[in-house]
Amino acid sequence: MTALPRQVHVFVRDWLSANNVLLRSRGGHVLVDTGYVRHVPLTLALLATPRGIGAEPLARIVNTHCHSDHMGGNAALQRRYGCPVAVPLGEAPHVAAWDERALWLDWAGQSAERFTAAGVLHPGERHVWGDLEWESIAAPGHDMGALCFFNAEHRVLISGDALWEHGFGVVMPPEVEPEALPATRRTLDALAKLDVRTVIPGHGEPFRDFAAALERAYGRVEAFEADPTRLARHALKVILAFTLLDRRSMPLAELTGHVARVGMYRDFNALYFRQPPAELAAFLVKELTRAGAARVEDGALVPAAVAAG
Ligand SMILES: [Zn+2]
Repeated sequence: MTALPRQVHVFVRDWLSANNVLLRSRGGHVLVDTGYVRHVPLTLALLATPRGIGAEPLARIVNTHCHSDHMGGNAALQRRYGCPVAVPLGEAPHVAAWDERALWLDWAGQSAERFTAAGVLHPGERHVWGDLEWESIAAPGHDMGALCFFNAEHRVLISGDALWEHGFGVVMPPEVEPEALPATRRTLDALAKLDVRTVIPGHGEPFRDFAAALERAYGRVEAFEADPTRLARHALKVILAFTLLDRRSMPLAELTGHVARVGMYRDFNALYFRQPPAELAAFLVKELTRAGAARVEDGALVPAAVAAG
């Protein structure tokens, strides 16, 4: 684990729940991102440990963006602590309307408990959280409303899903969201201008080699720009892998129905693949098992590594 300012504690989670970043302060503790709804008991337990806030109150929840693995604990934590939730400006209307398509919920086969946001975070704003100043940086791409949070003093970047050590969160292909891939590149350009020593990503351990991560991310953008169908394929694989982590097992017999019913598969199939759902389902099984992300066991597709907790 990389040395971070003492106010900053990262609960490194997994692929179903995004990391929770706790910014501790006597003036009020702030939590960045709350994990997936299935993991709420673990999120609450982690937060209540001495490495978290123990029995102290939580002053505020903020989200880097409002996908299910980042905001799935908002409602439960709000209930427990009675604290306000602030979301990025671009996410606020989707959250207010609980737009299942924009939030990638039903549309992607995912779920979250509905919550109400009391505050809005604007790009360019500065906030004092955990006694440190954090600048909100617009980070559209994976999510068009996403923000990163940068502390210039300690050169720490909370990057959400805009930049991981190896890549970034899945990006919608051009026919679905024309601006997403160009925005991903522009976001990398904007982040590259920051003097970053430590990145706290939305998934995976905090890391130091910012330049290498950027280079890998640019390489991935380039590959997707060259072949949008590859991006569409990649996106469906990622979303199905997420669903397997959520459900832990999906009978092969149900997979065709899932692919035929869930909006994202339907939309992508109509735009890119034009295959009968059974064929698309079989293709995804083949791809996920070949990549080692899943295996077939007793007629069901199961994730290769079931997320702990
Ligand atoms: Zn995300």
